[in-house]
Amino acid sequence: MGGDGTVAARPEQRGCGLRSMATDLFNPTEEHRALREMVRSFAEKDLEPQAAAFDRAEAFNLPLFRKLGDLGLLGITVPERWGGAEMDAVAAVVAHEELAAVDPGFTLSYLAHAMLFANNFNQNADDAQRRRVLPKVCSGQWVAGMGMSEAHAGTDALAMKTTAVRDGDRYVLNGAKMWITNGAIGDTELGDCFLIYARTAADGQLRGGRQLSSFLVEKGMPGFRLGQKIRDKLGMRASTTAELVFEDCQVPVANLIGSEGDSTRHMMRNLEIERLTLAAMSLGIARRCLEIMNRYASERTAFGQPLRHFGQVQRYIGESYAQWMAGRSYVYATAAALDLGAGGQRLDSDGVKLYCATMAKDVADRAIQVLGGYGYVGEYKVERLWRDAKLLEIGGGTLEAHQKNIAADLRRVEVLR
Ligand SMILES: Cc1cc2nc3c(=O)[nH]c(=O)nc-3n(C[C@H](O)[C@H](O)[C@H](O)COP(=O)(O)OP(=O)(O)OC[C@H]3O[C@@H](n4cnc5c(N)ncnc54)[C@H](O)[C@@H]3O)c2cc1C
Repeated sequence: MGGDGTVAARPEQRGCGLRSMATDLFNPTEEHRALREMVRSFAEKDLEPQAAAFDRAEAFNLPLFRKLGDLGLLGITVPERWGGAEMDAVAAVVAHEELAAVDPGFTLSYLAHAMLFANNFNQNADDAQRRRVLPKVCSGQWVAGMGMSEAHAGTDALAMKTTAVRDGDRYVLNGAKMWITNGAIGDTELGDCFLIYARTAADGQLRGGRQLSSFLVEKGMPGFRLGQKIRDKLGMRASTTAELVFEDCQVPVANLIGSEGDSTRHMMRNLEIERLTLAAMSLGIARRCLEIMNRYASERTAFGQPLRHFGQVQRYIGESYAQWMAGRSYVYATAAALDLGAGGQRLDSDGVKLYCATMAKDVADRAIQVLGGYGYVGEYKVERLWRDAKLLEIGGGTLEAHQKNIAADLRRVEVLR
């Protein structure tokens, strides 16, 4: 495979004119290639100039976020009839990779909106709900997020305590969600709409995972408010993270998504595209860091020669390139096989995130090392990318959660094919 992702024709194909049919793992169709070029150009022209300032200010760039709606990215996997671009998991990977190469914090907001909310909602809502909500979400009129985690239940998500009790034509929600990306827009303003998981059966009452339901909770609903806005994050500072509080929150029955008690399945299925696109963000971070260290190693001299002549620097560059390409190949192969409408693809969605999160952090770390003191300050961007990369080992599932899931899924497998 070439560094551009082109798979060369097999030897028996050479000379038969089949070389022109070589497939590109990373841009399997012309549509994917055009999408990549469009997102890369947006990222370079519009994202790059503001990334450092919004990171420093811990602020969310709402006007720029809305531009993603004009580009058709906010509903990238949503059908066209609801305002989306109706593209596949590979396209979602391309968009996240290209945006994260420039501004991972901004990209995390995009992921929460487009994957955690829009993709999830589209898969599980009914047509009346889709018609009312998705056009506003796909255009960027509404900023959306998803609430699963709670202060005392992260990895152990099924231990969540938020409850929803039916009372006539409404559900009454009580509890709080923690760490919610896009929970706040400014310092005091809530995001517009959220997919919130809550317990509709008491612990142990219904076995087999039928205790959770999900609800569309909208800004302005009685009893719904912003709790704390979480500040001083290590990285991903251009996305907001907040606590959402529900105090006898009144949610119409029409906002129940799917059937009552059916949402553990929704949650597990959506974690697959979440983990895949978080892995795609890792690819963007790693590529950018590799580009920066590679260029610097040629420009900077020490002891009369460019840094790239030193074996230890060669090791940083060589290992980073090989690991980035390994992660990239794994992510794109997994994306090509991922069916957004089906579950049961956890093994590799956990696998790509497990591998790529640490790969990106390691590549960013090596980039800082190759740049020396210049790597440790903001100008060369690798310190911001390193801080952002760390979140990918925690959010959307910790490394330990992925290890646990993979070991569980391989329990009965004797031969790997
Ligand atoms: C910036 C940011 C944005 C986020 N955005 C969202 C969002 O939009 N929506 C949302 O719902 N959540 C969000 N989260 C929450 C995130 O998914 C959780 O932080 C994550 O799942 C880990 O949960 P926790 O923080 O409660 O850690 P814990 O689950 O308490 O884990 C602490 C440590 O214990 C380990 N551990 C726990 N259980 C086991 C086990 N069985 N075996 C071995 N080790 C274990 C973990 O791996 C970890 O190392 C976000 C978090 C951050 C930091």
